[in-house]
Amino acid sequence: MSAFNVAKFGGTSVANFEAMSRCSAIIENNPQTRLVVSSACSGVTNLLVELANGVQDAEQRLNIMKQLADIHDAIIDQLADPTKVEKEVHSMLDSIASAAEAASFQSSKKLTDHLVACGELMSTYILTQLMRERGVNTIRFDIREVLRTDNNYGRAEPQVEEIAKLAQEKLAPLCAEYVVVTQGFIGSDEQGNTTTLGRGGSDYSAALIAESVKASGLEIWTDVPGIYTTDPRIAPKAAPIPEISFSEASEMANFGAKILHPSTLVPALRHEIPVFVGSSKEPEKGGTWIRQQVENSPQFRALALRCNQTMVTLRSAKMFHAYGFLAKVFEILAKYKISVDLITTSEISVSLTLDKTDTSGGAPELPQEAREELQELCTVEVEHNLCLVALIGNHMETKGYAKEVFSTLGDFNLRMICYGASDHNLCFLVDAHESKAVIQKLHLDLFENRYK
Ligand code: ASP
Ligand code: MG
Repeated sequence: MSAFNVAKFGGTSVANFEAMSRCSAIIENNPQTRLVVSSACSGVTNLLVELANGVQDAEQRLNIMKQLADIHDAIIDQLADPTKVEKEVHSMLDSIASAAEAASFQSSKKLTDHLVACGELMSTYILTQLMRERGVNTIRFDIREVLRTDNNYGRAEPQVEEIAKLAQEKLAPLCAEYVVVTQGFIGSDEQGNTTTLGRGGSDYSAALIAESVKASGLEIWTDVPGIYTTDPRIAPKAAPIPEISFSEASEMANFGAKILHPSTLVPALRHEIPVFVGSSKEPEKGGTWIRQQVENSPQFRALALRCNQTMVTLRSAKMFHAYGFLAKVFEILAKYKISVDLITTSEISVSLTLDKTDTSGGAPELPQEAREELQELCTVEVEHNLCLVALIGNHMETKGYAKEVFSTLGDFNLRMICYGASDHNLCFLVDAHESKAVIQKLHLDLFENRYK
Protein backbone atom coordinates (compact mmCIF):
# COMPACT_ATOMS: atom_id res chain seq x y z
CA MET A 1 0.00 0.00 0.00
CA SER A 2 1.42 3.39 -0.87
CA ALA A 3 -0.12 6.11 1.31
CA PHE A 4 -1.39 4.55 4.48
CA ASN A 5 -2.63 6.72 7.29
CA VAL A 6 -3.27 5.69 10.89
CA ALA A 7 -5.67 7.90 12.87
CA LYS A 8 -5.80 7.84 16.65
CA PHE A 9 -8.66 9.29 18.68
CA GLY A 10 -8.32 10.18 22.35
CA GLY A 11 -10.91 9.74 25.09
CA THR A 12 -12.59 13.12 24.65
CA SER A 13 -12.78 12.52 20.88
CA VAL A 14 -14.92 9.42 21.49
CA ALA A 15 -16.75 10.71 24.56
CA ASN A 16 -20.28 10.57 23.13
CA PHE A 17 -22.29 9.96 19.97
CA GLU A 18 -21.64 13.38 18.43
CA ALA A 19 -17.93 13.17 19.19
CA MET A 20 -17.69 9.68 17.66
CA SER A 21 -19.59 10.88 14.60
CA ARG A 22 -17.04 13.67 14.16
CA CYS A 23 -14.28 11.04 14.29
CA SER A 24 -16.02 9.05 11.60
CA ALA A 25 -16.33 12.16 9.43
CA ILE A 26 -12.59 12.78 9.80
CA ILE A 27 -11.90 9.18 8.76
CA GLU A 28 -14.32 9.39 5.83
CA ASN A 29 -12.61 12.57 4.62
CA ASN A 30 -9.27 10.87 4.20
CA PRO A 31 -9.43 7.74 2.04
CA GLN A 32 -5.83 6.99 3.04
CA THR A 33 -6.92 6.27 6.60
CA ARG A 34 -7.01 2.49 6.82
CA LEU A 35 -6.44 2.00 10.51
CA VAL A 36 -8.11 3.69 13.47
CA VAL A 37 -6.82 3.47 17.03
CA SER A 38 -9.22 4.49 19.76
CA SER A 39 -8.99 5.31 23.45
CA ALA A 40 -11.67 4.45 25.95
CA CYS A 41 -14.56 6.91 26.18
CA SER A 42 -13.64 9.89 28.32
CA GLY A 43 -13.72 9.13 32.05
CA VAL A 44 -13.99 5.35 31.62
CA THR A 45 -10.37 4.45 32.38
CA ASN A 46 -10.48 6.47 35.62
CA LEU A 47 -13.57 4.57 36.75
CA LEU A 48 -11.97 1.25 35.87
CA VAL A 49 -8.81 2.18 37.77
CA GLU A 50 -10.97 2.93 40.79
CA LEU A 51 -12.58 -0.50 40.58
CA ALA A 52 -9.23 -2.17 40.03
CA ASN A 53 -7.81 -0.58 43.17
CA GLY A 54 -10.48 -2.47 45.09
CA VAL A 55 -13.78 -0.90 46.12
CA GLN A 56 -14.93 -2.74 49.27
CA ASP A 57 -18.41 -1.29 49.46
CA ALA A 58 -20.73 -3.23 47.14
CA GLU A 59 -23.08 -0.31 46.75
CA GLN A 60 -20.26 1.98 45.71
CA ARG A 61 -19.15 -0.63 43.19
CA LEU A 62 -22.65 -0.72 41.78
CA ASN A 63 -22.63 3.03 41.52
CA ILE A 64 -19.42 2.97 39.47
CA MET A 65 -20.84 0.18 37.30
CA LYS A 66 -23.88 2.34 36.66
CA GLN A 67 -21.71 5.26 35.58
CA LEU A 68 -19.87 2.95 33.18
CA ALA A 69 -23.09 1.60 31.75
CA ASP A 70 -24.54 5.11 31.37
CA ILE A 71 -21.57 6.44 29.40
CA HIS A 72 -21.75 3.59 26.89
CA ASP A 73 -25.53 3.23 26.75
CA ALA A 74 -25.92 6.91 25.93
CA ILE A 75 -23.98 6.29 22.70
CA ILE A 76 -25.45 2.88 21.93
CA ASP A 77 -28.98 4.26 22.27
CA GLN A 78 -28.34 6.60 19.37
CA LEU A 79 -27.21 3.89 16.98
CA ALA A 80 -29.63 2.83 14.27
CA ASP A 81 -29.02 -0.85 15.01
CA PRO A 82 -27.83 -1.19 18.60
CA THR A 83 -28.68 -4.88 19.21
CA LYS A 84 -25.33 -6.54 18.60
CA VAL A 85 -23.18 -3.85 20.20
CA GLU A 86 -25.43 -3.66 23.23
CA LYS A 87 -24.88 -7.36 23.80
CA GLU A 88 -21.13 -7.08 23.33
CA VAL A 89 -20.75 -4.10 25.66
CA HIS A 90 -23.08 -5.47 28.32
CA SER A 91 -21.29 -8.77 28.41
CA MET A 92 -18.08 -6.80 29.00
CA LEU A 93 -19.78 -4.83 31.76
CA ASP A 94 -20.75 -8.14 33.42
CA SER A 95 -17.18 -9.34 33.33
CA ILE A 96 -16.02 -5.97 34.70
CA ALA A 97 -18.44 -6.37 37.62
CA SER A 98 -17.02 -9.77 38.56
CA ALA A 99 -13.41 -8.64 38.14
CA ALA A 100 -14.20 -5.60 40.31
CA GLU A 101 -15.56 -7.86 43.00
CA ALA A 102 -12.41 -9.98 42.82
CA ALA A 103 -10.31 -6.81 43.07
CA SER A 104 -12.20 -5.79 46.20
CA PHE A 105 -10.80 -8.90 47.92
CA GLN A 106 -7.35 -8.77 46.41
CA SER A 107 -6.17 -6.36 43.78
CA SER A 108 -3.10 -7.03 41.66
CA LYS A 109 -1.35 -5.40 38.75
CA LYS A 110 -2.37 -8.23 36.46
CA LEU A 111 -6.03 -7.93 37.41
CA THR A 112 -5.79 -4.15 37.07
CA ASP A 113 -4.61 -4.44 33.48
CA HIS A 114 -7.34 -6.95 32.72
CA LEU A 115 -9.89 -4.48 34.08
CA VAL A 116 -8.66 -1.18 32.70
CA ALA A 117 -8.24 -2.67 29.21
CA CYS A 118 -12.02 -3.04 29.04
CA GLY A 119 -12.47 0.69 28.31
CA GLU A 120 -10.82 0.47 24.91
CA LEU A 121 -12.42 -2.91 24.19
CA MET A 122 -15.87 -1.35 24.71
CA SER A 123 -15.33 1.94 22.88
CA THR A 124 -14.09 0.12 19.78
CA TYR A 125 -17.23 -2.06 19.61
CA ILE A 126 -19.31 1.10 19.50
CA LEU A 127 -17.12 3.10 17.12
CA THR A 128 -17.04 0.20 14.67
CA GLN A 129 -20.84 -0.04 14.54
CA LEU A 130 -21.24 3.73 14.29
CA MET A 131 -18.85 3.89 11.34
CA ARG A 132 -20.62 0.98 9.63
CA GLU A 133 -23.90 2.80 9.98
CA ARG A 134 -22.34 5.79 8.23
CA GLY A 135 -21.38 3.54 5.34
CA VAL A 136 -17.70 2.91 6.13
CA ASN A 137 -16.56 -0.64 5.44
CA THR A 138 -15.30 -1.15 8.99
CA ILE A 139 -14.02 -4.11 10.95
CA ARG A 140 -13.01 -4.28 14.62
CA PHE A 141 -9.70 -5.90 15.43
CA ASP A 142 -8.49 -6.99 18.86
CA ILE A 143 -5.02 -5.48 19.02
CA ARG A 144 -3.96 -7.98 21.69
CA GLU A 145 -3.38 -10.38 18.80
CA VAL A 146 -0.57 -8.14 17.58
CA LEU A 147 0.63 -5.79 20.29
CA ARG A 148 2.98 -8.13 22.10
CA THR A 149 4.57 -6.84 25.31
CA ASP A 150 6.48 -8.19 28.26
CA ASN A 151 4.50 -8.93 31.41
CA ASN A 152 5.35 -5.78 33.34
CA TYR A 153 1.69 -5.08 34.06
CA GLY A 154 0.74 -1.41 34.23
CA ARG A 155 3.73 -0.34 32.20
CA ALA A 156 4.42 -3.11 29.76
CA GLU A 157 7.29 -2.88 27.32
CA PRO A 158 6.31 -3.43 23.67
CA GLN A 159 8.23 -6.05 21.72
CA VAL A 160 8.74 -4.21 18.50
CA GLU A 161 10.01 -7.02 16.26
CA GLU A 162 7.32 -9.43 17.35
CA ILE A 163 4.69 -6.71 16.85
CA ALA A 164 5.93 -6.03 13.31
CA LYS A 165 5.81 -9.72 12.46
CA LEU A 166 2.31 -10.24 13.86
CA ALA A 167 1.02 -7.02 12.27
CA GLN A 168 2.22 -8.02 8.82
CA GLU A 169 0.59 -11.40 9.26
CA LYS A 170 -2.73 -10.44 10.84
CA LEU A 171 -3.36 -6.71 10.55
CA ALA A 172 -1.96 -5.45 7.26
CA PRO A 173 -4.07 -7.80 5.07
CA LEU A 174 -7.25 -6.64 6.83
CA CYS A 175 -6.37 -2.99 6.19
CA ALA A 176 -6.28 -3.68 2.46
CA GLU A 177 -9.96 -4.52 2.58
CA TYR A 178 -11.42 -2.63 5.53
CA VAL A 179 -11.00 0.44 7.65
CA VAL A 180 -9.81 -1.36 10.77
CA VAL A 181 -10.81 -0.06 14.20
CA THR A 182 -8.61 -1.17 17.07
CA GLN A 183 -7.68 -0.37 20.66
CA GLY A 184 -4.95 1.88 21.96
CA PHE A 185 -3.27 1.41 25.35
CA ILE A 186 -3.56 -2.38 25.55
CA GLY A 187 -1.53 -5.39 24.52
CA SER A 188 -0.83 -8.92 25.64
CA ASP A 189 2.14 -10.88 26.91
CA GLU A 190 3.41 -14.17 25.56
CA GLN A 191 0.92 -16.13 27.67
CA GLY A 192 -1.96 -14.12 26.27
CA ASN A 193 -2.56 -12.09 29.45
CA THR A 194 -3.77 -8.55 28.87
CA THR A 195 -1.23 -5.80 29.54
CA THR A 196 -1.30 -1.99 29.30
CA LEU A 197 1.33 0.54 28.25
CA GLY A 198 0.62 2.98 31.11
CA ARG A 199 -1.87 5.82 31.43
CA GLY A 200 -2.22 7.91 28.30
CA GLY A 201 -0.56 5.07 26.39
CA SER A 202 -2.83 4.97 23.38
CA ASP A 203 -0.77 7.61 21.56
CA TYR A 204 2.19 5.33 22.02
CA SER A 205 0.13 2.33 20.82
CA ALA A 206 -0.90 4.23 17.72
CA ALA A 207 2.72 5.04 16.90
CA LEU A 208 3.78 1.43 17.46
CA ILE A 209 0.96 0.19 15.26
CA ALA A 210 1.72 2.77 12.57
CA GLU A 211 5.32 1.59 12.61
CA SER A 212 4.32 -2.06 12.41
CA VAL A 213 2.17 -1.62 9.31
CA LYS A 214 4.73 0.76 7.74
CA ALA A 215 2.22 3.62 7.68
CA SER A 216 3.12 6.82 5.86
CA GLY A 217 1.34 9.09 8.33
CA LEU A 218 -0.02 9.13 11.87
CA GLU A 219 -2.78 11.48 12.99
CA ILE A 220 -3.35 12.01 16.69
CA TRP A 221 -6.79 13.54 17.21
CA THR A 222 -7.32 15.00 20.63
CA ASP A 223 -9.10 17.99 22.19
CA VAL A 224 -6.50 20.67 21.41
CA PRO A 225 -5.85 22.05 17.92
CA GLY A 226 -2.19 21.04 17.91
CA ILE A 227 0.86 22.15 19.81
CA TYR A 228 1.02 25.77 20.97
CA THR A 229 3.98 28.00 21.74
CA THR A 230 2.97 27.51 25.35
CA ASP A 231 -0.10 26.60 27.39
CA PRO A 232 -2.73 29.23 26.40
CA ARG A 233 -4.20 28.97 29.90
CA ILE A 234 -0.97 30.49 31.19
CA ALA A 235 -0.17 32.86 28.33
CA PRO A 236 -3.37 33.72 26.44
CA LYS A 237 -1.40 34.94 23.41
CA ALA A 238 0.17 31.52 22.86
CA ALA A 239 0.00 30.69 19.16
CA PRO A 240 -0.43 27.36 17.33
CA ILE A 241 2.68 25.85 15.77
CA PRO A 242 1.96 24.55 12.24
CA GLU A 243 5.15 22.51 11.90
CA ILE A 244 7.84 21.32 14.29
CA SER A 245 10.80 18.98 13.89
CA PHE A 246 11.10 15.60 15.60
CA SER A 247 14.09 16.87 17.57
CA GLU A 248 12.16 19.83 18.94
CA ALA A 249 8.99 17.85 19.57
CA SER A 250 10.78 15.09 21.44
CA GLU A 251 12.18 17.68 23.82
CA MET A 252 8.65 19.00 24.25
CA ALA A 253 7.10 15.62 24.84
CA ASN A 254 9.62 15.03 27.56
CA PHE A 255 9.22 18.44 29.07
CA GLY A 256 5.70 18.65 30.20
CA ALA A 257 3.67 19.57 27.15
CA LYS A 258 1.08 16.96 27.99
CA ILE A 259 -0.25 16.67 24.48
CA LEU A 260 1.48 13.47 23.50
CA HIS A 261 2.51 10.48 25.55
CA PRO A 262 6.30 10.97 25.79
CA SER A 263 7.11 7.67 24.05
CA THR A 264 4.92 8.37 21.04
CA LEU A 265 7.65 9.88 18.93
CA VAL A 266 10.07 7.02 19.41
CA PRO A 267 8.50 4.67 16.84
CA ALA A 268 7.58 7.62 14.60
CA LEU A 269 11.18 8.75 14.60
CA ARG A 270 12.50 5.26 13.93
CA HIS A 271 10.49 5.11 10.74
CA GLU A 272 10.29 8.82 9.98
CA ILE A 273 6.51 8.75 10.05
CA PRO A 274 5.14 12.31 10.06
CA VAL A 275 2.78 12.86 12.99
CA PHE A 276 -0.16 15.24 12.92
CA VAL A 277 -1.80 16.52 16.10
CA GLY A 278 -5.20 18.18 15.86
CA SER A 279 -8.57 18.61 17.53
CA SER A 280 -11.37 16.29 16.43
CA LYS A 281 -13.79 18.95 17.67
CA GLU A 282 -12.40 21.56 15.30
CA PRO A 283 -10.57 19.73 12.51
CA GLU A 284 -10.94 22.78 10.28
CA LYS A 285 -8.57 24.67 12.57
CA GLY A 286 -5.71 22.47 11.38
CA GLY A 287 -3.03 21.38 13.79
CA THR A 288 0.66 20.67 14.13
CA TRP A 289 2.78 18.47 11.89
CA ILE A 290 5.81 16.86 13.46
CA ARG A 291 8.33 15.87 10.80
CA GLN A 292 11.96 15.13 10.20
CA GLN A 293 12.47 18.13 7.90
CA VAL A 294 10.72 21.43 8.52
CA GLU A 295 10.81 24.67 6.61
CA ASN A 296 11.36 26.99 9.57
CA SER A 297 13.67 26.45 12.49
CA PRO A 298 13.13 29.51 14.68
CA GLN A 299 15.40 30.17 17.64
CA PHE A 300 12.45 30.15 19.99
CA ARG A 301 9.78 27.57 19.28
CA ALA A 302 7.90 26.82 22.47
CA LEU A 303 7.89 26.95 26.25
CA ALA A 304 6.89 24.01 28.39
CA LEU A 305 6.25 23.88 32.11
CA ARG A 306 6.40 20.82 34.32
CA CYS A 307 5.60 21.19 37.98
CA ASN A 308 6.00 18.82 40.94
CA GLN A 309 9.72 18.52 40.52
CA THR A 310 11.90 16.83 43.10
CA MET A 311 15.48 18.05 43.22
CA VAL A 312 18.13 15.99 44.97
CA THR A 313 21.48 17.52 45.81
CA LEU A 314 24.37 15.27 46.74
CA ARG A 315 27.50 16.73 48.29
CA SER A 316 30.79 15.17 49.21
CA ALA A 317 34.35 16.40 49.50
CA LYS A 318 35.33 12.95 48.23
CA MET A 319 34.08 13.99 44.84
CA PHE A 320 36.95 16.42 44.46
CA HIS A 321 39.16 15.13 41.66
CA ALA A 322 37.88 11.62 42.26
CA TYR A 323 36.59 9.19 39.70
CA GLY A 324 33.76 6.72 39.96
CA PHE A 325 31.71 8.84 42.35
CA LEU A 326 28.89 9.47 39.89
CA ALA A 327 29.02 5.86 38.80
CA LYS A 328 28.32 4.82 42.39
CA VAL A 329 25.49 7.32 42.72
CA PHE A 330 23.86 6.14 39.52
CA GLU A 331 24.33 2.52 40.47
CA ILE A 332 22.22 3.15 43.56
CA LEU A 333 19.60 5.08 41.59
CA ALA A 334 19.45 2.31 39.01
CA LYS A 335 19.05 -0.33 41.71
CA TYR A 336 15.88 1.43 42.88
CA LYS A 337 14.74 2.04 39.28
CA ILE A 338 14.90 5.81 39.80
CA SER A 339 15.03 7.65 36.53
CA VAL A 340 16.95 10.91 36.49
CA ASP A 341 15.77 13.84 34.46
CA LEU A 342 18.07 16.87 34.73
CA ILE A 343 21.55 16.87 36.11
CA THR A 344 24.16 19.52 36.89
CA THR A 345 27.45 19.15 38.68
CA SER A 346 29.95 21.31 40.50
CA GLU A 347 33.33 20.35 41.90
CA ILE A 348 31.94 18.73 45.03
CA SER A 349 28.23 18.40 44.45
CA VAL A 350 25.74 17.14 41.97
CA SER A 351 22.08 18.10 41.66
CA LEU A 352 19.54 16.06 39.85
CA THR A 353 15.80 15.93 39.39
CA LEU A 354 13.81 12.73 39.54
CA ASP A 355 11.73 11.64 36.62
CA LYS A 356 8.13 10.78 37.19
CA THR A 357 7.69 7.20 36.07
CA ASP A 358 4.42 6.25 37.72
CA THR A 359 0.94 7.60 37.22
CA SER A 360 0.23 8.81 40.74
CA GLY A 361 -0.20 12.52 41.38
CA GLY A 362 2.39 14.65 43.16
CA ALA A 363 6.13 14.83 43.00
CA PRO A 364 8.31 11.73 42.68
CA GLU A 365 9.88 10.67 45.97
CA LEU A 366 13.38 9.45 46.69
CA PRO A 367 12.74 6.09 48.40
CA GLN A 368 14.05 5.93 51.98
CA GLU A 369 16.30 2.91 51.25
CA ALA A 370 17.87 4.72 48.31
CA ARG A 371 18.41 7.78 50.46
CA GLU A 372 20.12 5.73 53.14
CA GLU A 373 22.46 4.09 50.64
CA LEU A 374 23.32 7.46 49.11
CA GLN A 375 24.01 8.85 52.58
CA GLU A 376 26.81 6.35 52.97
CA LEU A 377 28.54 8.20 50.11
CA CYS A 378 27.57 11.82 50.62
CA THR A 379 25.07 14.23 52.16
CA VAL A 380 21.63 14.13 50.58
CA GLU A 381 19.28 17.08 50.37
CA VAL A 382 15.80 16.82 48.84
CA GLU A 383 13.73 19.84 47.76
CA HIS A 384 10.16 20.07 46.50
CA ASN A 385 7.87 22.85 45.26
CA LEU A 386 9.89 23.40 42.13
CA CYS A 387 8.82 23.62 38.51
CA LEU A 388 10.83 22.96 35.42
CA VAL A 389 10.69 25.48 32.62
CA ALA A 390 11.89 24.26 29.23
CA LEU A 391 12.56 26.50 26.30
CA ILE A 392 12.48 24.60 23.04
CA GLY A 393 14.14 26.04 19.96
CA ASN A 394 16.99 25.83 17.50
CA HIS A 395 20.60 26.95 17.19
CA MET A 396 20.90 27.48 20.91
CA GLU A 397 24.68 27.61 20.70
CA THR A 398 24.41 30.95 18.87
CA LYS A 399 26.19 33.93 20.39
CA GLY A 400 23.88 35.94 22.66
CA TYR A 401 21.24 33.24 22.97
CA ALA A 402 21.62 32.67 26.70
CA LYS A 403 21.93 36.38 27.29
CA GLU A 404 18.68 37.04 25.52
CA VAL A 405 16.88 34.40 27.54
CA PHE A 406 18.28 35.16 30.96
CA SER A 407 18.21 38.94 30.69
CA THR A 408 14.41 38.68 30.60
CA LEU A 409 14.43 36.81 33.90
CA GLY A 410 16.28 39.26 36.10
CA ASP A 411 13.47 39.38 38.64
CA PHE A 412 13.24 35.67 39.24
CA ASN A 413 15.10 33.16 41.31
CA LEU A 414 16.57 30.53 39.03
CA ARG A 415 17.72 27.18 40.34
CA MET A 416 19.44 24.43 38.45
CA ILE A 417 20.08 25.38 34.79
CA CYS A 418 20.67 22.83 32.03
CA TYR A 419 22.07 24.21 28.82
CA GLY A 420 24.29 22.68 26.19
CA ALA A 421 23.37 19.01 26.11
CA SER A 422 20.82 19.62 23.41
CA ASP A 423 20.77 22.25 20.74
CA HIS A 424 17.00 22.30 21.09
CA ASN A 425 16.43 22.65 24.79
CA LEU A 426 17.39 25.01 27.55
CA CYS A 427 15.75 24.36 30.87
CA PHE A 428 15.87 25.41 34.48
CA LEU A 429 14.04 25.07 37.76
CA VAL A 430 12.09 27.87 39.40
CA ASP A 431 10.05 28.09 42.59
CA ALA A 432 6.55 26.78 41.99
CA HIS A 433 4.84 30.01 43.03
CA GLU A 434 6.73 31.99 40.37
CA SER A 435 6.55 29.46 37.58
CA LYS A 436 3.58 30.89 35.70
CA ALA A 437 5.01 34.41 35.87
CA VAL A 438 8.28 33.07 34.42
CA ILE A 439 6.45 31.49 31.49
CA GLN A 440 4.44 34.68 30.91
CA LYS A 441 7.55 36.87 30.94
CA LEU A 442 9.49 34.59 28.61
CA HIS A 443 6.54 34.27 26.26
CA LEU A 444 6.06 38.01 26.16
CA ASP A 445 9.70 38.84 25.46
CA LEU A 446 10.84 35.92 23.31
CA PHE A 447 7.64 35.20 21.38
CA GLU A 448 5.01 37.95 21.42
CA ASN A 449 7.29 40.99 21.25
CA ARG A 450 9.94 39.38 19.09
CA TYR A 451 7.72 38.27 16.23
CA LYS A 452 5.51 41.34 16.24
N1 ASP B 1 -7.56 5.12 28.17
C1 ASP B 1 -6.20 5.21 28.65
C2 ASP B 1 -6.07 6.33 29.68
O1 ASP B 1 -7.02 7.04 29.94
C3 ASP B 1 -5.23 5.36 27.55
C4 ASP B 1 -5.35 6.62 26.72
O2 ASP B 1 -6.43 7.17 26.59
O3 ASP B 1 -4.34 7.02 26.14
O4 ASP B 1 -5.03 6.47 30.24
MG1 MG C 1 -4.61 10.60 25.94
